[in-house]
Amino acid sequence: PAGKEAEKAGRSRVSYEDIGGLGPVVQKIREMIELPLRHPQIFEKLGIQAPKGVLLHGSPGTGKTLVARAVANETDAYFISISGPEIIGKFYGESEAKLRSVFEEAEKHAPSIIFIDEIEAIAPKREELGGEKQVERRVVAQLLTLMDGLKSRGKVIVIAATNLPNLLDPALRRPGRFDREIVLPVPDRYGRLQILEIHSRGMPLAADVDMGEVARITHGFVGADLEALCREAAMTCLRRVLPEVDLAQSTLPYETLMQLEISKDDFLSALREVEP
Ligand code: ATP
Repeated sequence: PAGKEAEKAGRSRVSYEDIGGLGPVVQKIREMIELPLRHPQIFEKLGIQAPKGVLLHGSPGTGKTLVARAVANETDAYFISISGPEIIGKFYGESEAKLRSVFEEAEKHAPSIIFIDEIEAIAPKREELGGEKQVERRVVAQLLTLMDGLKSRGKVIVIAATNLPNLLDPALRRPGRFDREIVLPVPDRYGRLQILEIHSRGMPLAADVDMGEVARITHGFVGADLEALCREAAMTCLRRVLPEVDLAQSTLPYETLMQLEISKDDFLSALREVEP
């Protein structure tokens, strides 16, 4: 319930509007996750099974967590987020019990989404696990049992994220488990422009800033990099306009505030600091 409250409290009220450059991905997510959560009867009527598990894969910072949170918010689904390393580490000795309680909580509050970040940490290929990896072995088995046992199909959906899909235990990808996959690509120039526009939405940009140009010269940057770039450009502007001595002043002249306008050069300087 604490997770739900934190979600409701604001901080992460992300919506589809906050996702840039992933049009087709969002479309697939809506079909695979939003539709069954909202209207499970459609799947029944069509005679097909609503998915239980969806695997998101893509490089770090491409928006996997963002997409999962957005779909939960947009559908008002109960959202529980856990991560593979956390299950093994923080809950050492109680990993399976923790997984069971997560699934119980999700069923109780359905419709809900369970998000498992870095799933490769709990579900590596079992045959590659040596004798010392007994914990992981049991955790994979527990996860599979819980997914097979999900009663309210369509009402509880498990979204798992990984940047190493080939490391996953193939048993996880069988029908009825994570049998749908969505790839989050590294954004192209147009995607980068959309992401830059999202992250500079609330920023005072000078007239000489051409985001299309910034998008052109940021080949290889993913969403998280572009967000960092916008933040760094703002900080560069701050340092330029407000020399350190002024920061100690207790009042800030209105004119100084008005001068805070992020310029093209601020973006260019920021580019020297932020790398993909
Ligand atoms: P990791 O594999 O490291 O967990 P991830 O794929 O889950 O990465 P997120 O945590 O979703 O990536 O992305 C980090 C931040 O980068 C997001 O909170 C968001 O601000 C920004 N971001 C990433 N992708 C996008 C995108 N497509 N549109 C807008 N912002 C994005």
